[in-house]
Amino acid sequence: MQAKDLVQLAEQFGSPLYVYDAAKIQSQYKRLTSAFSKVEKLRINYAMKALSNVAILQLLREMGSCIDAVSIQEVQLALHAGYSPDQIFFTPNGVSLEEIEEVSALGVQINIDNLSILEQFGTKHPSVPVCIRINPHVMAGGNANISVGHIDSKFGISVHQLPHLVRIVENTKMKIVGIHMHTGSDILDIEVFLYAAEILFDAAKNFKDLEFLDFGSGFKVPYKKDDVETDIEELGRKLSKRFNAFCKEYGKDLTLIFEPGKFLVSEAGYFLAKVNVVKQTTSTVFAGIDSGFNHLIRPMFYGSQHYIENISNPKGKERFYSVVGYICETDTFANNRRISEINEGDILSFRNAGAYCFSMSSNYNSRYKPAEVLWLNGEGHLIRAQETFEDLLKNQIPLPIIATV
Ligand SMILES: *Cc1c(COP(=O)(O)O)cnc(C)c1O
Repeated sequence: MQAKDLVQLAEQFGSPLYVYDAAKIQSQYKRLTSAFSKVEKLRINYAMKALSNVAILQLLREMGSCIDAVSIQEVQLALHAGYSPDQIFFTPNGVSLEEIEEVSALGVQINIDNLSILEQFGTKHPSVPVCIRINPHVMAGGNANISVGHIDSKFGISVHQLPHLVRIVENTKMKIVGIHMHTGSDILDIEVFLYAAEILFDAAKNFKDLEFLDFGSGFKVPYKKDDVETDIEELGRKLSKRFNAFCKEYGKDLTLIFEPGKFLVSEAGYFLAKVNVVKQTTSTVFAGIDSGFNHLIRPMFYGSQHYIENISNPKGKERFYSVVGYICETDTFANNRRISEINEGDILSFRNAGAYCFSMSSNYNSRYKPAEVLWLNGEGHLIRAQETFEDLLKNQIPLPIIATV
């Protein structure tokens, strides 16, 4: 979609605003499935925590996607969006046995990531097929917040604990139908990913009833021009070949599963905000926008660098700006960034605002969460209205009597 479409949407729906380009989500989905077209049985479970608007879930369902959910509420949202229980996987971390039992009772495939719950669940429900999350202890890249495969990580059952795991499975007579790994975000080196995959193949040989292998996600997407990204096509060629060979060896056509979040929706998203004030100081020029880390926390939380364009003045002379939000503490989106000359009232567009942006937004400073729009067939469809004052008050219970002194 083009800058002029974004300008028009900001006029039509106001700011701040999240916009998602349906065509980009669809093309990313096709790119991934094409890269693995040589695999007989391929399944994409969209990691919905990245962006969980029901309209987005419906769009992906139309394309044939399934769902990866990390909470029972996500499972319920996916069911609400029309997915059947067998199209949903539950891959939580550290949730209670009760929650896992509740989700399992809905007919959803569960994935267990620690030995304590595995033993308890297997003892109580030996006939329920279970997937296990293995931690191969491979650092795939990314930063400390999003790398989940290392030795001190809280995620998954350590591959070094396989003997204990196998003993639990034998003792409880539970059925292991899948093995899962998710090495974290921002995979740069395909060889490292393939190395982790080998560990998974090795682990898989311990189980006789497998139906699928789930390789998680963590594909890196470009944030700016010339940025490195995971070479999905190369990964597809290499992993498909190895996977097919493994299936032969195992004696069964297993399903290969990926659970991408960022890869499918990151680049489809634009966050639009209006410049309230341009403030010259002795050291920099601040552009203060009508939003803050309450709506887009990734720059403050992860130090992520979202490319910013002034779509109201795209041809303007470039100058250096610090783009900041209105939250009453440090609230910086970008420092010393080259942007076309900014005037008060201009609309700035933040790229890569599809994944982990709206879904991480909050009401901090008692602000409303923004509206969301889906750009589909050349038209903007409102898929979430901006919140109202009633939303802020909803669930709050004022004191019946205000004591006066
Ligand atoms: C978050 C998450 C994903 C998605 O990761 P991306 O980097 O957004 O692709 C996949 N699987 C699990 C288990 C996750 O927790």
